[in-house]
Amino acid sequence: MTKHIQAIRGMHDILPERIAIWHRIEDTARQVLSGYGYAEIRTPLVEVTDLFKRSIGEVTDIVEKEMYSFEDRNGDSLSLRPEGTASCVRAAIEHGLLVQPQRLWYRGPMFRYERPQRGRYRQFHQIGVEVFGLDGPDIDLEMILLTARLWRTLGLNGFRLEINSLGDPDERLAYREQLVAYLGAHADQLDADSCKRLHTNPLRVLDSKNPQTQKIVAAAPSLMDHLGEATRGHFERIRHGLDEAGVDYLVNPRLVRGLDYYNRTVFEWITDDLGAQGTVCAGGRYDGLVEQLGGRSTPAVGFAMGLERLVELLELAGHAAEPPVDAYLVAVGERAQQVAPMLAERLRDAVPALRLMTHCGGGSFKSQFKKADKSGARYALVLGEVELERDVFGVKPLREEGEQRELGFDELAAFLG
Ligand code: ATP
Ligand code: MG
Repeated sequence: MTKHIQAIRGMHDILPERIAIWHRIEDTARQVLSGYGYAEIRTPLVEVTDLFKRSIGEVTDIVEKEMYSFEDRNGDSLSLRPEGTASCVRAAIEHGLLVQPQRLWYRGPMFRYERPQRGRYRQFHQIGVEVFGLDGPDIDLEMILLTARLWRTLGLNGFRLEINSLGDPDERLAYREQLVAYLGAHADQLDADSCKRLHTNPLRVLDSKNPQTQKIVAAAPSLMDHLGEATRGHFERIRHGLDEAGVDYLVNPRLVRGLDYYNRTVFEWITDDLGAQGTVCAGGRYDGLVEQLGGRSTPAVGFAMGLERLVELLELAGHAAEPPVDAYLVAVGERAQQVAPMLAERLRDAVPALRLMTHCGGGSFKSQFKKADKSGARYALVLGEVELERDVFGVKPLREEGEQRELGFDELAAFLG
């Protein structure tokens, strides 16, 4: 027997039985985002590898060990996108979008060669937002309020908002020196990864998951104490806005992000309901990235949320999948089967929102009715010799008690409409 080919580890099919929750998240996000004036952008899933190296940073988990890179037939190094920001920035520069402020959003699959586990996959999906050309705290605040609205609209609560400021590059540089001096003095107590990062990307040591390292980090100098007046003011304005809007938050001075390009504001929405993979949404400001990628200096801020984690949360909260159809048309006998497709089309004309599945493949009344029930439809519509004679449909509720009734075409359209 030939061996079945299976999907790649960490990459999953999303089967029809779960798709309703995906649609709910995607539709809600689209509604909320367009309600704030954001426009969708779609970029290719594959980019030249350099784009990610230059934006995400060479000394990051993503670029060091998580990218799906390969040689194109002409020898170019290409990569499946591990995140969406770099592509958005590239596209914005390439198409001259940066002459005015832009509020953009995107969605789609991302690829990272990580160890697959709950909430962490090799192909996963994000919805993300990038705003270009606005440098004030007002837009950072808008972004956080927008995500808060999204959770409310989805009926998700219990998320914790953590915020921090990473300062501007010069402030960070000064802080970095102190941090390296402090961590260097405790190097023998750091885990191996953190030791390595000490000289390449010391800020990342701050969010090490290693308990021993965390103890050392707890007493490290705080970046917050190294912020100048401007960055501090920016951060305070966001805090004030959140207070005014009644959005709870926690200032976490250890919150840094995995990617190099952030400055000033960073934030994460975190849940305790998903085990170790608790961050559902993360983002911040990255004012230097556009210039770093060859565009003219343009402030930017954005975030991305992980859809698999949101799907799991909604499922845990008991959001059942909605049945795919409202009505299932059963047609028994040759004549009924002949006219059924035409009558179904007329019904769809009359009730455009109707989700009507017609039985295909013939069979007895009993077997067709079983299929109707299995479809999850609320009503079975029955066409047999008797109904055709009388010019009516039999209408039988499937999800509640009730006798089969007879309705003429117009009555049925009104009933289903
Ligand atoms: P983490 O700390 O969980 O690795 P990250 O900092 O690598 O996250 P980002 O690159 O900021 O994550 O991505 C934003 C969001 O995308 C995350 O908060 C998470 O919800 C989701 N995400 C990231 N990587 C994965 C993955 N491998 N599988 C599923 N979701 C993911
Ligand atoms: Mg990661």
